[in-house]
Amino acid sequence: MTDPVFPRLALIGIGLIGASIALAARKTGAAGHVAIHSRTGRTLRRAEELGLGDSYHSDPAEAVRDADCVILCIPVGASGEAAKAISANLKPGAIISDVGSVKSSVIAQMAPHIPEGVHFVPAHPVAGTEYSGPDAGFAELFENRWCILTPPPGTDPDAVERLSEFWSRIGANVETMTAEHHDLVLAITSHVPHLIAYNIVGTAEDLETVTQSEVMKFSAGGFRDFTRIAASDPTMWRDIFLNNKEAVLEMLGRFTEDLTALQRLIRYGEGDKLYDRFARTREIRRGIIAAGQETEAADFGRPHGKGDDAAG
Ligand code: NAP
Repeated sequence: MTDPVFPRLALIGIGLIGASIALAARKTGAAGHVAIHSRTGRTLRRAEELGLGDSYHSDPAEAVRDADCVILCIPVGASGEAAKAISANLKPGAIISDVGSVKSSVIAQMAPHIPEGVHFVPAHPVAGTEYSGPDAGFAELFENRWCILTPPPGTDPDAVERLSEFWSRIGANVETMTAEHHDLVLAITSHVPHLIAYNIVGTAEDLETVTQSEVMKFSAGGFRDFTRIAASDPTMWRDIFLNNKEAVLEMLGRFTEDLTALQRLIRYGEGDKLYDRFARTREIRRGIIAAGQETEAADFGRPHGKGDDAAG
């Protein structure tokens, strides 16, 4: 096996994403020693039972000591506090990164706590499931998925290259863009779709004329896919919406206009226009399959069990 990209890696947070990084780094040899911290003793003990790392630390500052790379794998709203707690112990020359689904807000929260000589390279692996916690992690999560790096202007290119190599080693395809652009792209591809899922499942729950048991019984008509997405972690998603407010509101405004236009087409019986619209959107699905980001088979998230359909 080739040398590890990072002889010592520290993971702050060990839920779905942290555990998957730990397992993938071990499987591929992308990291040597993996040091783990989690906020609660319960999660930390579970990580140890699962054998996810090499050392386990209740103090985050201890976990990052001597680490060549530190990755925060916690809800985006907690990034600033976490960076503050570890900053004094970061090794000069180390890379500090994260996996947050929102980038501008994470950069604003973390940047004030990054010491001179430490390289800050924010990242977002666009891969996930609706499950949470260390038990949900699996080594293949990032295989053939994108990891987007959003280094602030002036970041050391060597550090960006090393982090990029790490993500490639654990299976991801890496792309670099600005944090602002990332937040707009993800607002339409991930954040607004999740909001729609949360909303439609909520609407069905509140109906008086259709019973709960009918909703369950006939859910294969499309509703079932929404329920999977709407089962995603409430803390994580609360933080995503609060921290990507502007981009989400911008995309939601456009979405609402388009929905109103569709509503009018239905009201006035404009079948040809509805058909044209649906025929165009079908091409998007074909494009996703052609890009290798989905298979032809309609699995509705079931057979694999570990689908990436609910990536944050
Ligand atoms: P998760 O499975 O729920 O794990 C969360 C981890 O963060 C746990 O170690 C938890 O510690 C810790 N944590 C929770 N609240 C905290 C707080 N206030 N302060 C410090 N630590 C806290 O979450 P995840 O799915 O791995 O998501 C982690 C990050 O990855 C998020 O920023 C999310 O945006 C991003 N992400 C998620 C996905 C996805 O689909 N899930 C995809 C890409 C990126 P305890 O259990 O000890 O409390």
